[in-house]
Amino acid sequence: MDILEYYNAIEGRVLYQPKCFKAYQNKLQGDAGEALVEQVISQCENVTYLRNHEMKAPSQVEYDYIIISNRKVIILEVKHYSGNYFYNNNEITRDLNDPLGFDRRNPMTQLKHAENIMRRWLKGNGFANYEIETYLIFSNASFCLHGLEELRHQGRVLLFTQLYQLPQIIGTDAMPQKTRQLQEALVSSYEKWTHQLSGYEREPFENVRGGLRCPKCRNWLESAAEYKKSKCSCVKCDTEFKKLDMIHANLIELYYAKGAPFTKCEAVRWCAHQGISTKTIYRACRQFFKSAGKNKGRVYYL
Ligand SMILES: [Zn+2]
Repeated sequence: MDILEYYNAIEGRVLYQPKCFKAYQNKLQGDAGEALVEQVISQCENVTYLRNHEMKAPSQVEYDYIIISNRKVIILEVKHYSGNYFYNNNEITRDLNDPLGFDRRNPMTQLKHAENIMRRWLKGNGFANYEIETYLIFSNASFCLHGLEELRHQGRVLLFTQLYQLPQIIGTDAMPQKTRQLQEALVSSYEKWTHQLSGYEREPFENVRGGLRCPKCRNWLESAAEYKKSKCSCVKCDTEFKKLDMIHANLIELYYAKGAPFTKCEAVRWCAHQGISTKTIYRACRQFFKSAGKNKGRVYYL
């Protein structure tokens, strides 16, 4: 079972977050930033790019994005930090009052390292004539860096509000017959070295809180929902769902939180709510899940 699905299911349903939760949240945040940037990249015509490219040689390196143009390689490093940050003495630190505490990394240093390795790789593989351009992208709209101008002296920085410049940077003149050779060489250089989030701790199932949540904003529906005949709506985010779909989403969370097939009784306990009939819960079990066993011992799974 996937760790991300597990943490997604128990997020907000447990009192104490397991230790790996932070790594999971960082991963989710990183993915959100990269997805945003990808939306912009993919709108460019004839663009050739690689996402999350990892290499072990000439040195271990991970690229968020490598964009290949006729004579140029563009490297993008994406950070989806949110909140107030300070750039000082070559370090990027969080706001002192931020409950998440300090973070003393400088992604520009990381990007320079990635650039050097790319230069060596290009040279070693017959592409020495390619230029390299690098950009550090802060993709979160709520990110604020004090000392940004100072950081700009070190390299190119794009903020969320400047993402519209990306298509211009990438350009439209890339010709597939010219970029293909380098693309193929890079693809074959891929070697994974980062570790997957694995060996995660599971919270005992009895510590996981059942109950219905809005599939969209994930707020509890107990008091914040209106129930109609076959629909219900979340008062917080104002979304209307078919009851059956809302139960389906919550039963998926039950399945991942339990880490095993569930019975009808467990489904009813998990989804118990005065606005929801047992019949509807049974129907969702039958309609959306595979099943095994008979009568009371019948279990449902994905
Ligand atoms: Zn909602």
